[in-house]
Amino acid sequence: MFQQAIDTVRAKALGSSRYGNFIDGRWIEPIEGKYFADHSPINGRLIAEFAESTPADIELALDAAHRARAKWAAVSPTDRARILNRIADRLEDNLEILALAETMDNGKPIRETRGADLPLAIDHFRYFAGCIRAEEGSISTIDEKTIAYHFKEPIGVVGQIIPWNFPLLMAAWKLAPALAAGNCIVIKPAEQTPLSLMMFAELTADILPTGVINIVTGHGSVVGRALAESPRIGKVAFTGSTATGRAIMGYAASNLIPQTMELGGKSPNIFLPDVMERDDAFLDKAVEGFALFAFNKGEVCTCPSRALIHESIFDRFLEKAIARVERIRVGDPLDPETQMGPQASQDQLSKILDYIEIGKGEGASCRTGGERFLPGGELDQGYFVRPTVFVGDNSMRIFQDEIFGPVVSVTPFTDIDDAIGIANDTRYGLGAGVWSRNGNDAYRLGRSIQAGRVWTNCYHAYPAHAAFGGYKESGFGRENHRAMLAHYQQTKNLLVSYDEQPL
Ligand code: NAD
Repeated sequence: MFQQAIDTVRAKALGSSRYGNFIDGRWIEPIEGKYFADHSPINGRLIAEFAESTPADIELALDAAHRARAKWAAVSPTDRARILNRIADRLEDNLEILALAETMDNGKPIRETRGADLPLAIDHFRYFAGCIRAEEGSISTIDEKTIAYHFKEPIGVVGQIIPWNFPLLMAAWKLAPALAAGNCIVIKPAEQTPLSLMMFAELTADILPTGVINIVTGHGSVVGRALAESPRIGKVAFTGSTATGRAIMGYAASNLIPQTMELGGKSPNIFLPDVMERDDAFLDKAVEGFALFAFNKGEVCTCPSRALIHESIFDRFLEKAIARVERIRVGDPLDPETQMGPQASQDQLSKILDYIEIGKGEGASCRTGGERFLPGGELDQGYFVRPTVFVGDNSMRIFQDEIFGPVVSVTPFTDIDDAIGIANDTRYGLGAGVWSRNGNDAYRLGRSIQAGRVWTNCYHAYPAHAAFGGYKESGFGRENHRAMLAHYQQTKNLLVSYDEQPL
């Protein structure tokens, strides 16, 4: 299955297994001529080599972006929208191959990349194509003869740094609004998963004017840093860990570069008593809400990694939830039946197994999983972990640290106030889930949890027109929603006096 997938991807891609940087609409060798190898987490096999760039390569990309800047900013919103829609169509025409590439490179199941990552990325370009056409400035009347006009202008050249957990979707979340707003871009994918963004460049190179998007691969501490601290960017957008976000804020601050930060999370998923008191369908939905959304490898920033279950239903609900977790199909992510693939890297595997030991060591009770999983054959070289459920209390490290793996830490609560207290007892504030059809309780929880997104009776839905982002150490700024355009724009005010009398 893997060989077939890699052959299919290579046949459509450059036809080689080595990618340079994509700068000024062309593929360019890195200046120092070095490459790094990218291996699949499914079986450890080589996918391709990518440029191990240096700050000098970032400068080349910035040169190209600055050359393209004035021309792209002058393209009308209607024409920019047309280009975004063409990109969306091109991605849709190539959905299958991009989904395969994403699965090979990240390990997430093909049913997810086909069914979620790609459709969401495509929709993002369409959504921002609509937004930019619908955007209007504003006029304020200062007095009878004095008017303030407000226009939106692009920032110019922006830097974007992408994580490995949703390689193409996180890029789309940044590229679509930045392009719509009229900016030129230098973007750096994560070194673990550069493939899909490079294929994006190959597939859309004839659509965008040269220099509007430039992609440089390499190590974060070298090229990510060079990009984030360059005085030649007007904004840096980052998605990744809170620790890296902190470092990038420091680099960017030296040049007063504005930032948006989409960082880590430790999201609570709260189950109220009525999930077991209503109909079976609602109970089934809540059980899926516990099991499936936490165990798509857990490599999702909003992973519902803390489950809070009301004490009156704790044992009964947990028993059903664990039975469901144990039915999750873990295995080859290229198989459409697979629900959970391997972790994205060896580092991830080690970190997750370490946390499982920490949980056991701090006295949490491991109810299922708790070990590496060896599916057999070539897949034994892959980075699989059994879906793991711990019961413990919120002060433990497995409740406080972002494990970023298929590990859910469960604890009971006594009443709504207790649930709010536990939910907010974290340094993060990205996502949360509430499962109840008691509207008042659900509303109160939703408004009281300090997180940028609270799902009620659903989870992990990411429509382009719902604002997404963090409170507390989960970051600042928002992605998705037309409000996002403002993060890629300057506000220009013209204050005009129409008074014909002398001052
Ligand atoms: P990471 O912070 O290790 O890396 C993210 C990106 O930053 C990569 O491209 C990396 O090369 C680059 N980078 C690393 N060190 C750098 C440095 N010193 N200077 C500049 N760039 C540097 O994160 P990751 O492990 O790739 O992603 C997982 C993290 O991302 C998790 O914490 C997850 O919660 C978070 N995440 C957040 C969101 C969100 O929207 N809030 C979405 C997805 C992932």
